[in-house]
Amino acid sequence: MADYVTVHDAMADGHERLEVRCATCRVTHHIPWRLMRGVLNGDRLDELHKRLVCKKCGGRPAPEDVCIPEPVKFPGGPLCGPGTSGS
Ligand SMILES: [Zn+2]
Repeated sequence: MADYVTVHDAMADGHERLEVRCATCRVTHHIPWRLMRGVLNGDRLDELHKRLVCKKCGGRPAPEDVCIPEPVKFPGGPLCGPGTSGS
């Protein structure tokens, strides 16, 4: 996991969601910050696992199963893909 301490740190670097893995269900959830109720910008990322519960099995993720996914870069904006020049 990157060296982000708080939610704010990750957001400031362009991260829009949290990655949470469930070892029981073997699924990975990506949760946008805005959908994480009660999570504040100053909350520590290594504390978030205490608040998260798998919707499928109700299990709590281990601390190492909560991380920041690699950011997806959209050069030119989200609606523009590469290779638009030419013709
Ligand atoms: Zn689960």
